[in-house]
Amino acid sequence: MTTEVHPNTDEANQAKTQNFEADVSRLLYLMVHSIYSDRDIFVRELISNAADACEKLRYEALAKPELIEEGGPFAISIGVDPDEKTLTFADNGVGMGREELVEALGRIASSGTRAFLEKLGAEDKTKEGAANLIGQFGIGFYSAFMVADEVVVETRRAGASEAWSWSSDGKGAYTIAPLPLDRAPARGARVILHLNDASTDYAEAHRIERIVREHSGAVAVPIDLIDKPGAEPRRIADGAAIWAKSKSDVKPEDYTEFYRGLSGQYDEPALTIHWRAEGRHEYTVLAFIPGSRPLDLFDPARKGRNKLYVRRVLISQDTDLLPGWLRFVRLVVDSADLPLNVSREMIQESVVFAAIRKGVANRIVQELTKLAESEPEKFAKVWENFGAVIKEGLYEDPERRDALFKMARFATSMHPDGGRTLADYVGALKENQTAIFYLTGDDSKRLAASPQLEGFRARGVEVLLLADPVDAFWVSTAAGYEGKPFKSVTQGAADIKAIPLAEGAKPEPGETPAAVATLFAFFKQTLGDQIEDVRASDRLTDSVACLVAPEFGPDRQLEKMLASHGRMGERTKPILEVNAGHPLIASLARRLPVAADKSLVEDSAWLVFDEARLLEGEAPNDATAFAARLRRIMEKALG
Ligand code: ADP
Ligand code: MG
Repeated sequence: MTTEVHPNTDEANQAKTQNFEADVSRLLYLMVHSIYSDRDIFVRELISNAADACEKLRYEALAKPELIEEGGPFAISIGVDPDEKTLTFADNGVGMGREELVEALGRIASSGTRAFLEKLGAEDKTKEGAANLIGQFGIGFYSAFMVADEVVVETRRAGASEAWSWSSDGKGAYTIAPLPLDRAPARGARVILHLNDASTDYAEAHRIERIVREHSGAVAVPIDLIDKPGAEPRRIADGAAIWAKSKSDVKPEDYTEFYRGLSGQYDEPALTIHWRAEGRHEYTVLAFIPGSRPLDLFDPARKGRNKLYVRRVLISQDTDLLPGWLRFVRLVVDSADLPLNVSREMIQESVVFAAIRKGVANRIVQELTKLAESEPEKFAKVWENFGAVIKEGLYEDPERRDALFKMARFATSMHPDGGRTLADYVGALKENQTAIFYLTGDDSKRLAASPQLEGFRARGVEVLLLADPVDAFWVSTAAGYEGKPFKSVTQGAADIKAIPLAEGAKPEPGETPAAVATLFAFFKQTLGDQIEDVRASDRLTDSVACLVAPEFGPDRQLEKMLASHGRMGERTKPILEVNAGHPLIASLARRLPVAADKSLVEDSAWLVFDEARLLEGEAPNDATAFAARLRRIMEKALG
């Protein structure tokens, strides 16, 4: 809906009031009503927009230097007016034209918005949570409404001969009106906040200075503070590029603040890597491993957050500087040799870019490996957050597979809490053990309790427990580690007979007695097309039965995952492996030939099968029939 405010004037000169898009209105409502616990963050968000605007113009001016002839060197200035209770963020960046104002401040462009609104509306109203969300979803501007009951944006696009004023009370509509040039900035934007009654203390210079130093000290544009109207601007941040400084001149808290601005996350980086590459190509890199998982970590689009500069000019925020499996890394790269005035596509295809990309990934892998050795506990946290992503590299990046195998940490049947390396595993191989055994699934607790592990436990053989979705993929494509193939414990015959039993383990049943073989045939007939076969198991010592895949069929977990992605038709039928020495099986085998009514044995066959499914985390084959059988058996037991 559009309301004409001055119906008599020429279209272009009218002030127009327009409603926000529905999402913005909802967002503003939530912003004001639920997350005011950490309001300071609006300062960081407005400064970051001002800095972005300066960097955009710095880039545009490469091709059109006339754009920055007027308006002075790039800077952000913050003006405080305690009497009027206003706070103004001014920059001489790129500014906005009329259309850009509508686009940028009237609606939410980010595709993650709905997800954001849902998160915000649902659980995450904690201080850290909300701050994290705002920065990560690109809706920072609206945080101004946490502290202001009116926001005015006066702006002039660099090089334009017209200027605009945008204003809103954040309640559903905004107005755009032309701004006379004598009142407009030479270029850039002025964001004026009329502070609400609960927020007038932000009109104190000291308070603003403290927040800026705390949150925005490492922004790449200098920041001035004007303590009161008419006062001289005072520089409170120098705008020197932190990555261009030498390591010894940067304090840890400066790194942290820079990381926060870059990532939009509010945590501490787990690892900071800062280096200058010299030699054939010269570039500087400042990279951070986040301390917690970014929200879009498993987003299919998998966009990284990194900035590519060429001699301190920001060229792009979405070049492909990192392989997908390092997408959680936040970084800045500043190159001395990339050409400045070519398109992003051309840059990405250049030899220099490829060299930088390779150098960056190598260095990050190297630093992570070093961390794993020198500070295992710190690394464990990194692995917990990002191991599932790094493991994608095991099949996407065969060249680095060995390096990643060295870094990878696993939970195993003997170390269910994780932290085992493949080297540890191979160092503990048992006599006659020729493979690295693994069990995949989606729940590590259930994996640790799986009946499939019994025979391995009885021999003291360790089994990798792989519970990340990506595991089923890499493990089926990896040839092996140090000459030992990976072998699924759910696949084929267990192949462990040759490994001697541990001391005190129950001896294996020998030949299957004839009565038990007859019972298996009866099971097979009863279960019909649900299974491929029924056979005696080498791998069970305590449980009654488990399901395994045929020797040359796909791994069951991999199959399940492909099926759930609609990438596969019929699933392969499993083999039901039964513990021939189990007392339950022995008594069923005794009863079968003498029972006039075979229904009890039939019910048992189905229940044994369904139990095996349940232990794998699947539902019984037919829930109604399962319940009826269970009830019949309970009635018999009680009656
Ligand atoms: P984001 O910065 O993540 O894009 P914001 O909500 O902070 O999201 O800002 C929305 C958009 O408004 C920006 O992308 C930019 O186009 C525009 N904008 C905000 N502040 C300024 C400014 N000071 N100068 C120019 N454009 C701005
Ligand atoms: Mg922003």
